[in-house]
Amino acid sequence: MSTESLLERRVKVLGGRSPLFYDKPLQLVRGEGVWLYDVDGKRYLDAYNNVPHVGHCHPRVVEALSRQARTLNTHTRYLDETVVSYAERLLSTFRPSLARVFFTCTGSESNELAMRIARECTGNMGVISTAFAYHGNTAAVAQISSVFTPAEQRGPFVRNVPVMDPYRERNGRSDEELAGAYAQDVQRAVEDFARHGVGLAAVLFCTAFSSEGLPVVPRGYLAKVADIAHAAGGLLIADEVQAGFGRFGSHMWGHDLHEALPDIVTLGKPMGNGHPLAGVVTTADLMERFSERNMYFNTFGGNAVSSAAGLAVLDVLQDERLLENARRTGDYVIAGLERLKDKHALIGDVRGRGLFFAVELVKDRASKEPAGAETKRVVNAMRERGVLLSRIGRGDNILKIRPPMPFNVEHADLLITTLDGVMSELSRRS
Ligand code: PMP
Repeated sequence: MSTESLLERRVKVLGGRSPLFYDKPLQLVRGEGVWLYDVDGKRYLDAYNNVPHVGHCHPRVVEALSRQARTLNTHTRYLDETVVSYAERLLSTFRPSLARVFFTCTGSESNELAMRIARECTGNMGVISTAFAYHGNTAAVAQISSVFTPAEQRGPFVRNVPVMDPYRERNGRSDEELAGAYAQDVQRAVEDFARHGVGLAAVLFCTAFSSEGLPVVPRGYLAKVADIAHAAGGLLIADEVQAGFGRFGSHMWGHDLHEALPDIVTLGKPMGNGHPLAGVVTTADLMERFSERNMYFNTFGGNAVSSAAGLAVLDVLQDERLLENARRTGDYVIAGLERLKDKHALIGDVRGRGLFFAVELVKDRASKEPAGAETKRVVNAMRERGVLLSRIGRGDNILKIRPPMPFNVEHADLLITTLDGVMSELSRRS
């Protein structure tokens, strides 16, 4: 079966607009660690996927999944030790107030439930997100996901704050000043709600601001946002679907890195290493108050097989010291990317932490005009040379590099030399 004829068959059943990566779509047939193999046996370095968090097809996760699938799989309406053990282990990674968990299957469901909890417990409807956010695909969550939802579909209960862009907007300001200025945007959104008779239920942010372009968040910003939300009678919801489970290396959770204490945290993507497992972590009080009038049950959420996968992910993170690896490799990658920035004028900015990086390409460093078309060429050329990454940001001009957590310095060398080669070729051709 050739890739072309598979593509034809796919379009006939999934439609022509079902998203696919790359100008030449990739047909992958096998994965192992940070490596992926296509139908022709060509090997690719995965510098993009965060769902296979501890590595593609990690044997311990596969073994845990299959062992539990062979034994029993039911839902959370029966007592099950695996589920309880997993909930205990997961919650032990949070600060003490975040002591309860609801299990779901996707990040979208988690954000949907988080919004329901916030609206029920505050008695308010308004939710603030950013102007280029993605939080999922359900009806309510799509309204706050400004990146793919037309503005007129956002409804009266959503306000978007502008995307922070310290690379362009710092203007010599300290973190304190910048954090204050960006927090003012949130305050203004709260006031706009109030003018329209809408109370604040929650501010909901991705703690990596990933779709927004992975900005360097000024220190203290998220804590200020929490204060503003609380003063307005609302809650802070931290979407950790991308940032969570140690992605930043220094901390298990993005909100801990930002020194903010959310009321609700939503989880997904890396949680089951590819198995659909997600969740909402919150306080005992909020869970109790929500549950007085609402029953939440999710048939597949937190089933025994999912919980076994989740436990194995936590075990591997710990036993293979993957947060430490993210810190060490992360610093190494940043140094390599900085060297490329010295060499290639197209690179305007390099930022990131742990194993999450953004390389912003600009037409010229003075105007900082986004180089979207060039970024697309780089992503496709990297794929041709066997390294997978993607792009983000309002100008589609930011390389998004977010590999599985076992990504090490050898993999980093391959990433950097390949990117160097691609960028040299691009500048020769232009
Ligand atoms: N929140 C964030 C920050 C995400 O990146 C995503 C997925 N890209 C979601 C929520 C939605 O998760 P899911 O696709 O599992 O519904």
